[in-house]
Amino acid sequence: MSSAASPALTDTPLSSLTGVGPALREKLAARGLSTVQDLWLHLPRGYEDRTRLTPIHALQAGVAAQVEGRVEAVERGFRYRPMLRVAIADVARGTLVLRFFHFRAAQVAQFAPGTRIRAYGTPRPGQHGLEIVHPAYRVLAEGEHALGDALDPVYPDIEGVGPASVRKLVVQALQHLPAAEALELLPPDWLRQCGLPSLREAIVTLHAPPADADVAALQGGLHPAQRRLALEELLAHQLGLRRQRLALQAEGARALRGDERLVAQLQAALPFALTGAQARVYAQLREDLRQPRPMLRLVQGDVGSGKTVVAAMAALLAVADGRQVALMAPTELLAEQHFHNLRGWLDSIGVRVGWLAGKVTGKARAKVLEEVASGAAQVVVGTHALMQEGVAFHDLALAIVDEQHRFGVHQRLALRDKGHAGVPHQLVMTATPIPRTLAMSAYADLDVSAIDELPPGRTPVTTVALPAERRPELIERIRLACAEGRQAYWVCTLIDDSDEVQAQAAQSTFEALQAALPTLRVGLVHGRMKPADKQSAMLAFKAGGIDLLVATTVIEVGVDVPNASLMVIENAERLGLAQLHQLRGRVGRGSAASSCVLLFQQPLSAMARQRLDTLRQTSDGFLIAEKDLQLRGPGELLGTRQTGIAGFRIADLARDADLLPQVHALADRLLHEAPDVVDAVVARWVGGAARYAAA
Ligand code: ADP
Ligand code: MG
Repeated sequence: MSSAASPALTDTPLSSLTGVGPALREKLAARGLSTVQDLWLHLPRGYEDRTRLTPIHALQAGVAAQVEGRVEAVERGFRYRPMLRVAIADVARGTLVLRFFHFRAAQVAQFAPGTRIRAYGTPRPGQHGLEIVHPAYRVLAEGEHALGDALDPVYPDIEGVGPASVRKLVVQALQHLPAAEALELLPPDWLRQCGLPSLREAIVTLHAPPADADVAALQGGLHPAQRRLALEELLAHQLGLRRQRLALQAEGARALRGDERLVAQLQAALPFALTGAQARVYAQLREDLRQPRPMLRLVQGDVGSGKTVVAAMAALLAVADGRQVALMAPTELLAEQHFHNLRGWLDSIGVRVGWLAGKVTGKARAKVLEEVASGAAQVVVGTHALMQEGVAFHDLALAIVDEQHRFGVHQRLALRDKGHAGVPHQLVMTATPIPRTLAMSAYADLDVSAIDELPPGRTPVTTVALPAERRPELIERIRLACAEGRQAYWVCTLIDDSDEVQAQAAQSTFEALQAALPTLRVGLVHGRMKPADKQSAMLAFKAGGIDLLVATTVIEVGVDVPNASLMVIENAERLGLAQLHQLRGRVGRGSAASSCVLLFQQPLSAMARQRLDTLRQTSDGFLIAEKDLQLRGPGELLGTRQTGIAGFRIADLARDADLLPQVHALADRLLHEAPDVVDAVVARWVGGAARYAAA
């Protein structure tokens, strides 16, 4: 195994390159380029092939090529704007026009008839056959014939730095590349086995691919050199998360005894029996919690699969040991609902549930904080307010985070820090199922289990897509359905994310529907309402006092009103699959046959049509997640901006997903065999983000 490269090797500052002063350094830094190594990884976004000549007659419109010919005629026009047309002919007598709109007198003089020109550009149809506008060109000396022997890299633009300077900087940086063995971190035997080049070779190849390189593979990001880099980057992220997990587990946690007396009381009081999947996942949690190291587990379960009760049972294991539990949800509405559910279940068995959100202020806040600090509040439910400084638990044993994808890694770590008597056990719940290999990458710091079964008696939701013009018909259908005692949601969605604009749209839809449906009781909830008003609207809806609830996407997660069996989603074409699936999950929770109407504006884009079709065809969250991955890539799917795996430089999870099994296997091996290599790989690729590991 190779030894770890020294940090000095990878952290050489840009100022060590000639010609990089403070001004240029700042421009490069603005693009995230601050070390020589960053330039090695500043990869071309494309390539120009000047290693060969294309006969003019073989040129194709839209396909970039290099040609060579002698100037036949020059025409300078001024009619509307300055223009220079240079006709060249090659040895096979093909002629081509080079057209310029900006040029200097000296340039015109260059194009004396008979001069040999080599030009590169993308031809397009002109007045007399193909022409190239503003080609890159060069006047050839008599007798000059040599062609380039590598493809020319085209780098992503850097504001304020010309393309030629970028190229020169990269060439200079590459001169600092150490020998292959000094740079390499991955085991050579493993690389050989996978048929992948060394890191050095990969970098050199990508900056100057040989003339015979597979250009199509390069453009598609599938060249072995690119795969090699993507693999190392994915590996680094995987190792970063796994190392973080190991560090946490090394801190240890207090094991719970596994006293199930309270759990049994809750189960006896529930109006239903657990599904097989719920029982299995609960058993896993109980086992985890009996260990003297922190549980780090993600429970995936489709909307309505009954995650909450499983979390409540885990919480009771902690309470039975006289310790505390925090349950944190991303929105106040969802947190409130958990609070009410848990209080409903736990009050009767004598467990005290506390409530803490940002809007709890003054005396009420002081009182909750006191209860949290004294341990009087055994289960504390809230929003991210729970993580703020000044919230001190008496003895936090278990931190439960619902709808994980909305919280970042660092937020989870902040909760971790609340457990002063050892690290708290962590349970993360998400209703956004993600494909397994992806889960192993995104949540490499967590064990993953799935509640992959819905409670019995649920009837699948019938989903239809309707163009917005059929709204009047739909309103009539709602009137009839509600007359039969059904309840409905009408979800207003907008591109604009601001609460303000959403609230206005919901307000006007509310007024319009109220006017159109005078016999119905219409309610409204949106993010701008006072919590008390929001809550009373939700409670009235739940109690059957409202027939039709007009809402913004605040109801997306967690809201649970089993009697609601009809949902209309406006502008459904604008939402992603995961969000539509979440919203739809609000219906189909009771025994009544439910339906979901996706109202869309014409014309539909191909992507939007596929999304709506997918929803009409399936309600399986895992299938929808796979489709979402195909359609949008993993970024959106995982909410990567927040999960800490964002910002891949080279890897693209959708394109490179097939590398993940190899990545996971290699990560296992390195964690076992070579901790120093692990540190070096993480430092090289993840850098600052890896600081979480040490946090
Ligand atoms: P989610 O997994 O989406 O968070 P919830 O925990 O909100 O789902 O549960 C959805 C609904 O199903 C709730 O009304 C809950 O009480 C009910 N529920 C949970 N488990 C079962 C079960 N085993 N049988 C019947 N209903 C259940
Ligand atoms: Mg839930």
